[in-house]
Formats: sequence, C-alpha cells, structure tokens
Amino acid sequence: MAEIKRTKNLGVHVNGGLSRAVKMAEKYKFDSAQIMPSAPMRWATRPISEEKLEPISKMHSDHPLRKILLHGVYLTNLARKDKQLFHLSKLSLVTYLNYAQKLINAIKEHDLQVEVLGICFHPGSAIDLSPEEGLERISYGINWVMDEVEETAPDVKLLLETTAGSGNVMGDTFAELAKMRERVKEKYNDRIGYVLDTQHTWVSGYNWVEDLDGVVAQAREHLGAKNIAAVHLNDSMKEFDSHKDRHADIGEGKIGVDAIKKLIAHDFFTGNDIPFILETPGLKTEEGIESELAKLR
Ligand SMILES: [Zn+2]
Repeated sequence: MAEIKRTKNLGVHVNGGLSRAVKMAEKYKFDSAQIMPSAPMRWATRPISEEKLEPISKMHSDHPLRKILLHGVYLTNLARKDKQLFHLSKLSLVTYLNYAQKLINAIKEHDLQVEVLGICFHPGSAIDLSPEEGLERISYGINWVMDEVEETAPDVKLLLETTAGSGNVMGDTFAELAKMRERVKEKYNDRIGYVLDTQHTWVSGYNWVEDLDGVVAQAREHLGAKNIAAVHLNDSMKEFDSHKDRHADIGEGKIGVDAIKKLIAHDFFTGNDIPFILETPGLKTEEGIESELAKLR
C-alpha cells in the first residue's frame, strides 16, 4: 500500500460498527467515521451492549480517528401516523442516543480527543399525513425523544439529514429542516443539528455544479454554519432535481469531480471545521475505501 497522508475532516461510512471503524481509520488514516452500532434494518429497542464500546479502550492518543458520527437505523420514520411504527422509531433513536452518551463517556475516561458528532437520521416520510401534519409529528417525536434522554444522554446531538424528497419523504429543503428544528423545545435547541448530503441535496434541486456559492448561501441562511455537523459526500447516479436517492462513487456521477473538488475546498466547510464523510457504493470493499479516499486526497 502506498503511503497515504491523513487529510483533515475526511472520512467514510464504515460497515461493522465501531471496532471496524477504529481499524479502518488506523489503516487508511482518515479522521472521521460514520457507524451504525446495530443492524441497520432492525429496530434498536434494547440497549446496545457495552462490549461495543471496547474498541475505545484500545485506541492510543495518536490514533487518527477524531470524529465519530452515528447513523440511525434506516427504518426510522418520525412522520409515521401508525402508532407502533412511530413508537419504534422514537425508541430506536433513544437507544442510539444512550449508546452515544456511553461512547462520549468512554472517550473521556480514556483521555482521547475524539468528538461524537451525534445521531444522524432521516426525519421521516409523511405517509397518510399532510406535510404540515408530518412536520408537527416529527417535532413532537424529537421532543419526546429528547425528554426521554434528558438525564441519560445530555451531551448527544440529534442531526436531521437532508433528504432526496422522493414520494412523501420530508426534509428535502433546508427551509423545511429548519422548521423542524424551530418547533423543538428551546432548551434542546443547541442539540439539534443537521447533516448535509451532497447527493440528496443535488436531486432535491440544490445545484452544486452551477451554483456552489448559492447553495452554500442557502445552507448558511436556513441551517446555520454552526449547526451543520457533517457533510455526507456522495456523487449522484441520478439527474439534478430528480428526487431519486442513488449514491455514486466520486467522479462517477452527475455531480462530477470538478464540482466535488470545489465543494470540499469551499471555505464555508473548511472554515467551519465540517467533516466530509463518504457514503459511496465503492466503500463496500477495502480497495474501494482506499481508492475513494485517494480521489479526494
Ligand atoms: Zn447520507
């Protein structure tokens, strides 16, 4: 393997939880990782085993990993009218928040300089509800979750991800995401942030290719630089404004290498210390992790 330099605020989504993320970050020298501490297509209703914190105890202070983002299970839908599915969505977030707090505590205990950015999730799809009702339900759900972990996970943030907006999926505009955050109790304000996905925003009508500064200006206005915890960096298999969620490897999609180059160098992101985390299809193999990172470096 050729020698690779660590690049600040650059990372990947790692399948296999914290232990694999710690190994991969060491091997490929990236400083940010997204993980899912439980099976992505199952509800997470029971506390996550403390064993899943152990990799922290094996990290040394010079370990490259500096930022960890958790992604909620894919089933989560806080705009769901169905009571049971709504409840399971809330419980799964509670489980992840509590795990993340234990992760923060373990990091402190071991004197490591690792930041846990929060739990990123797709707010929901308003099935059987109007968009306004969906918005109301999402905010209600977030408040319920935050109340539930008020004592047990006071240091963890919930991060609303920008979506592709297909069908009834909510959160495809910055303004709508901002509304969700505005309706959350004021005391939780500092603990609600965002994750900006370059593929989802592209298919939702934010033109990274022709209007980078314009998109950044809208993000600054509606979301606020300090509230953006991370960027999911993906190219897009689908056309601009098509509302289809299909990630492509860097340079293999409709956004393209030139636009991505400008995007990751933009001072809005570099100046605000916002990490870029890849979620591209190529990451399924180690060779893919290496080559996707190499492109960005
Ligand atoms: Zn994403």
